[in-house]
Amino acid sequence: MSKGLYLGTFMVGLEQKVMGGNVPWTLHHQHADYETLKPASQSKPIVYPKPDGKLTFDRLSSVFISNTNHEENQPAHLTLKDASVPVNVNLRTYAGPESRYCPAAVYEFIKTDDGNERLQINAQNCVHCKTCDIKDPTQNIVWVTPEGGGGPNYPNM
Ligand code: SF4
Repeated sequence: MSKGLYLGTFMVGLEQKVMGGNVPWTLHHQHADYETLKPASQSKPIVYPKPDGKLTFDRLSSVFISNTNHEENQPAHLTLKDASVPVNVNLRTYAGPESRYCPAAVYEFIKTDDGNERLQINAQNCVHCKTCDIKDPTQNIVWVTPEGGGGPNYPNM
């Protein structure tokens, strides 16, 4: 049992014992972010205005500005537990959220020659925001800390 869940169970037990359940608050299980993602069938697409190139920029321009750099031979810091999940679960049920939430366009669904789709991971673009580790609905993406020195480098910050 996780520490958070243990503490929550303990608090509910204490509340029942001491106050007989007559307390003016209710304790709820906190959902992890990835547990709250709705299937695409229950959601409406959001239409965003096109980037104007002055205040708003497309994702690859933003990656360019970040000066992101990774050593060519460093071990992959983004891997999948099960390579079939992105298409069979994420794309079919959630319309491929990784292709939208990643700010660096790391995850791309590509059409294959046989008409199917596959997930391409452009790990060299990663700006280490860790969103995929938090948001992936089945927790299939394994994000590990990249080797030292790699990643975004904003020289004027
Ligand atoms: S850590 Fe952020 S930038 Fe890197 S792949 Fe995940 S979502 Fe994209």
